[in-house]
Amino acid sequence: MNDIIQLLPDAIANQIAAGEVVQRPASVVKELLENAIDARAKSVQLIVRDAGKSLVQVIDDGMGMSETDARMCFERHATSKIRQSADLFSIRTLGFRGEALASIAAVAQVEARTRRAADELGTLLKIEGSAFKLQESIACLPGTNFCVKNLFFNVPARRNFLRSNAVEMRHILDEFQRVALANPEVALSLYQNDLETYNLSAGKLSHRIVGLFGKPYREQLSPCSEETSLVKVSGYIGKPEFSKKTRGEQFFFVNNRFVRHSYLHHAVMSAFEGILPEESFPFYALFIEIDPEHIDINVHPTKTEIKFDDERNVYAVVHAAVRKALSVHNIAPSLDFDININYHTFAFTPQHPVNPSPSIAPSQPPAQSAMPESPVFEKTGPRPRRDWAALYEDFQKQFPKEQIQTPVEPTATELTFESRANQLPPGKAISRQLRAEGEPATFQLQGCYIVTQVKSGMLIVDQCAAHERILYEKYLLALQKHNGTAQQTLFPQKVELNAADFQLLMEIADEIQNLGFVFEVTAQHTVEVRGIPAEASLGDEKSLLEGLIEQFKWHQSALNLGKKENLARSLARRSALKPGMKLTLPEMTMLIDQLFASSNPNYSPDGTPTLVMLNLEKIESLFSR
Ligand code: ADP
Ligand code: MG
Repeated sequence: MNDIIQLLPDAIANQIAAGEVVQRPASVVKELLENAIDARAKSVQLIVRDAGKSLVQVIDDGMGMSETDARMCFERHATSKIRQSADLFSIRTLGFRGEALASIAAVAQVEARTRRAADELGTLLKIEGSAFKLQESIACLPGTNFCVKNLFFNVPARRNFLRSNAVEMRHILDEFQRVALANPEVALSLYQNDLETYNLSAGKLSHRIVGLFGKPYREQLSPCSEETSLVKVSGYIGKPEFSKKTRGEQFFFVNNRFVRHSYLHHAVMSAFEGILPEESFPFYALFIEIDPEHIDINVHPTKTEIKFDDERNVYAVVHAAVRKALSVHNIAPSLDFDININYHTFAFTPQHPVNPSPSIAPSQPPAQSAMPESPVFEKTGPRPRRDWAALYEDFQKQFPKEQIQTPVEPTATELTFESRANQLPPGKAISRQLRAEGEPATFQLQGCYIVTQVKSGMLIVDQCAAHERILYEKYLLALQKHNGTAQQTLFPQKVELNAADFQLLMEIADEIQNLGFVFEVTAQHTVEVRGIPAEASLGDEKSLLEGLIEQFKWHQSALNLGKKENLARSLARRSALKPGMKLTLPEMTMLIDQLFASSNPNYSPDGTPTLVMLNLEKIESLFSR
């Protein structure tokens, strides 16, 4: 019998390889754009027709190719980017496999025009289904111009498999956006059937983001940066209130290569924990710079996966960077956080970021979901001390006495909401401080808002949202440390529940007790409440417990929150100040003080803003000055 094994002809081998590299027109867009970037182009034009099905053209002003290279570039495993296996560990270019052009040429009709700046003439090359059709010298601009026509012209099955133009165009736009974000210093334009869709000039990353996603992003971005000896993180995150219900604007780049990474996504989402509206996703474009030695990008031919040798460390730095951006940048410029004046020691100061909650976790919560205890945090240093009270400086100069409400002499008995945490410590540090600096510039508006003058203008705090934020963090800490404080009820109250609610209460009994509830089952579906958390107001223990269960159930079904976060949020919602509750001056002062000591002063746990800054500029603009 004859031997039957033969080597495949190149054309067939290329076509098979193309199956992996070229799945749709967007794959061609990605490969051509990346080649242009690797060729150090300053300006790149992308032209597509029929969502790339009939034409994808990329014109760059990069380094161009010699006549020989122009021919070589279509050979499989032909690349100028690596020469030996060791190079695989120091890759800085986007391409390195040398299979993209060979694959594309196997399944399309390709025309390439290319010229190096130093050469007088350029080269025109035509290749169809891996067969060279033409090669000649031509006059052309320096750079490279690839035309990829009629994708899958020779593979009808794949051509038929393509989706509608709208879907294919979406994929193309995704690729375009990624390349555009990663290379703001390169001018990029996109023409769709002769219509200019984007014309992005070279510039800063922030301008690029606005150019891509629209003017409203100007107000929505918070810069983000963190650096350790292992890794550098930079970029922008979107403020939580602008987050969207659908995913799509989350970008990670590792050494400028777009990657998907559910573990790092989790690091970002857990930093947003507690301040995002339900089921929504914030914008982020984060750039991770790391020595290529510490990564393996060779995991998949389409190369959006990546492996780090020290994933936990990178997680920690990303988390810290986002956390910092959230706590500092939203308000820092106007509030001078960096002034290092001690705020009152009784203020609530959570020292550690809370655990990631399942509602925001990627579909598979990573094994390392707890915050890694790693030395990189030391670099971050302690959270900046924020002393909003320092902003009262210059107060007297700016605000004439008679415009201010006369301060009420604070006494502990005037407190209108029971809160051990909110009660004044002996010595009334705050009132003393206010008196020392003049009249307090703080008053309550409509029983709902606290208005206070700060250095750069005016701060308006929503008392309910702010109190909810403070309590939420307190409860979460109590749950984590099992040390919630209880206050005894005056008279034990019987609460009778329906079977389902009773069952639920039993399931969360341990946690509820950690929060400070004390109760005992006294009859069927009935508990007797003997103690409630210290911060809650006495007298309505029954409705507090019932309300907590209601809120818990709602959070559970609507947000799918983890048990602890759900409980902390539910109880905070139930026991927070209600609109219309009158506050005394020390209460207001304390509330703002504690708010700024929280890990995220700007938002309540469900993402509603807790405060609004009206700086002088804004006020002046209201008067059209
Ligand atoms: P890779 O990018 O992985 O090296 P490709 O098949 O995409 O493989 O490209 C093969 C080679 O062709 C590249 O290594 C590069 O030398 C050359 N090349 C491709 N596109 C361009 C371009 N736009 N400008 C200059 N050279 C290019
Ligand atoms: Mg390439």
